Amino acid sequence: MKWEDLPETVDVLIVGAGPTGLTVAMNLKKYGIDALCIDDRDRIEIADSKCTSVQTRTIEIFEELGITERVIDEQSKVYGLIFRRLTGDKLKPFMSVTDQHFRTDSAFAYALSCPQWKIETSILEALRERGGDVLFSTRLESFEQDDDGVNAQMVHRPSGEKKTIRARYIAGCDGVRSTVRDQLNIQRTGRVYKDFFIIADIHVKFFNYALDKRHTVCSDEHHIHIAPLGDQFFRMFITIHDGYVTAEHRNLWTGTCKPDDDAWKATMAWFQARVDEYGLPWRLYDPVRFSTYEVFLGYANHAGKGRAFLAGDAGHSHSPHGGQGMNTGVQDGHNLAWKLALTLRGEMKDIVLQSYITEREAIWHDLVERTDTVKNVVERRSSSMRLITDWMLPMLPDPFYNEVARRGSQLTLRYEESELNCDEWPSSALGSLAAKLGRAIRVGERAPDGICQLMPTDGDALRTRLHRVLYGGGKAAKFMLLFFVDQSNPTPDFSEYEGFFDALSTKIRAESIEAYAVVPDGTKHFSTRLPALIDTEGELAERYGAHKGGVFILRPDAYIAYRHPAFSHESLLRYLSRLFHSPATTSTKEGKPAA
Ligand SMILES: Cc1cc2nc3c(=O)[nH]c(=O)nc-3n(C[C@H](O)[C@H](O)[C@H](O)COP(=O)(O)OP(=O)(O)OC[C@H]3O[C@@H](n4cnc5c(N)ncnc54)[C@H](O)[C@@H]3O)c2cc1C
Repeated sequence: MKWEDLPETVDVLIVGAGPTGLTVAMNLKKYGIDALCIDDRDRIEIADSKCTSVQTRTIEIFEELGITERVIDEQSKVYGLIFRRLTGDKLKPFMSVTDQHFRTDSAFAYALSCPQWKIETSILEALRERGGDVLFSTRLESFEQDDDGVNAQMVHRPSGEKKTIRARYIAGCDGVRSTVRDQLNIQRTGRVYKDFFIIADIHVKFFNYALDKRHTVCSDEHHIHIAPLGDQFFRMFITIHDGYVTAEHRNLWTGTCKPDDDAWKATMAWFQARVDEYGLPWRLYDPVRFSTYEVFLGYANHAGKGRAFLAGDAGHSHSPHGGQGMNTGVQDGHNLAWKLALTLRGEMKDIVLQSYITEREAIWHDLVERTDTVKNVVERRSSSMRLITDWMLPMLPDPFYNEVARRGSQLTLRYEESELNCDEWPSSALGSLAAKLGRAIRVGERAPDGICQLMPTDGDALRTRLHRVLYGGGKAAKFMLLFFVDQSNPTPDFSEYEGFFDALSTKIRAESIEAYAVVPDGTKHFSTRLPALIDTEGELAERYGAHKGGVFILRPDAYIAYRHPAFSHESLLRYLSRLFHSPATTSTKEGKPAA
């Protein structure tokens, strides 16, 4: 896209085409929303050494974005993480999370080692295939907002030319030094770590650890995290602990390596010396780049104001431990895009945009605390932490590590307080305990996936998965209304559900809601008006705890919004009317400001 093609008005202005902004752009494209994504950079830089760890929940979103085939290959799959600490001259494992600990309903039971530039390039390619694009070399300078939209002043860096465009909403996906955040005068809460962080993208010979895992080795002074990237190529990332940082560290080489340069030879020798301190046989060679960076631990005090929203590093930044930053940004973008789209289409009320703020602010606060805890564990700074790492962690049973694996995968993130939640399932003390232990589901959680057979009202049955049906095979995702029938009844009566769904569009704008009957394998007859999901493996009834029936609503981003143990016309209608406009709302572009 060229500067000359800049439109005068758009529905959404997305500032920043990192992983977060691209996720928003791609999803808005699917919903047919008129969006413009700009970036100050001239292109996606392959030399950028940023994220390499992609978590399971993000891979699920990649499936929706249509990029899994571009980013997943056998070499990039990662099945665990092993921590070892130096005791005397020996390295002893103190925490090992392996594939055995990772029990999941997800189709992607692994993490990925994939460089961030490859992810960005893949989303951009997919966006271009759908007719979208990014306007590079364009910087947002400032913006003002009123009740109906924003006026954004932009500059084309190569020519210095300036233009103002009008947008209904603005998504600030512009990274840690966010202009959108500054313009909104949103402050950040947090602090800068005093540790020293340096990365090498480097080749290693005689690597004696499993190549399908990530490894961390720790001493009192520093720790090294190493992620295999294939063909003897590794991301090696050293943290010098606060208190051990010296002037020497500040003089290390940063940037792309040039073989004849003395400074990078010295940096290379420094890296090899750190590895040797652990008695590891690894020989480092052919570094591609070194980079050092400062880490701010904290979050923006608000995820949005009026018609402007923050997402990705603009909203939060934290310790790289656990590889959560880009993943959280992609999930912010995924959460925001459908909410903007359905508001702009005039289908949903402003409450849905407010829920972005409530949901993501809570996730950011939790994330900052969690990544800081992981960092403290790895650094073993206090005597209590040493007690934990040296004595307790190695003795903890598998269920603890199952939980560590599930949390790291980001599958367990839950929107505990959300304007979109409605739980009418009777609760019991046992049920609450089971949910806390991850043995039962709750509203606000990621909707479990499961194998099923889709039986359309016309056409052939198709073996698929629930998430695939939700994500609509490349189409924009919709709300999914699931009527689970009693699994012991092979001849269910669908008339109540059919009647309800038929009448729904007279009560609310129901264009983005699809209804399915979930029926057991062996069901003898089907509805002629509602498609069915045949629970061929019994996974859906099991994972939703719905053997005796029940009604669930899944959001377009695959979180559970509503559940009720039985069909209740009143409850469903009350819930949906709270979120959706009535058909009498004729505007197709509601676009009112968020609360
Ligand atoms: C060394 C390193 C290793 C990391 N490893 C991991 C990891 O393993 N896993 C993980 O999840 N995360 C990791 N991260 C974090 C991850 O890189 C970031 O969280 C991620 O880049 C955030 O994406 P974003 O799209 O929100 O922001 P960014 O990637 O920063 O993108 C913001 C974009 O906005 C553009 N922009 C900024 N201001 C303007 C403006 N005024 N106008 C127009 N455009 C603008 C910028 O040019 C940029 O392209 C790592 C980070 C670093 C530095």
